[in-house]
Amino acid sequence: MRFAYQAVERIPKQLAEGVVYHSEEFEVAALLCACGCGHRVMLLVPDSHQVYSESGMATIRPSISVCDARCKAHYVVTAGDVEMLPAFSEALAASVMRNQIARHANRETKRSTWTSWVPTTFAKVLRKIASLFGG
Ligand SMILES: [Zn+2]
Repeated sequence: MRFAYQAVERIPKQLAEGVVYHSEEFEVAALLCACGCGHRVMLLVPDSHQVYSESGMATIRPSISVCDARCKAHYVVTAGDVEMLPAFSEALAASVMRNQIARHANRETKRSTWTSWVPTTFAKVLRKIASLFGG
């Protein structure tokens, strides 16, 4: 399947296969999933994706990862040509998630060491003051 670029005012209700509709006004683009599953893929342009016309054919950057459909297709469209990429598998998604959680946890640990350092020092100062008064 090749994708033509079509600038539109608003995204039509019925999408034709092989057309990337781009509404600059509403900052969205829409296409039927390139795997042929019929899923309507919506892209936020330019927030998440860039859509260009190359002699009437569509180029979309970065790659499209269809997360909200069963196909989980992952592909990049260049001058109308679709290049399928390895699926962003659930295992990979899970490991990315785990890494993010680990990073977050690290930050939490650092923060808690810092906050626990403050009361310890404060307690030491208090003890010193107390000892000055014969405590
Ligand atoms: Zn699909």
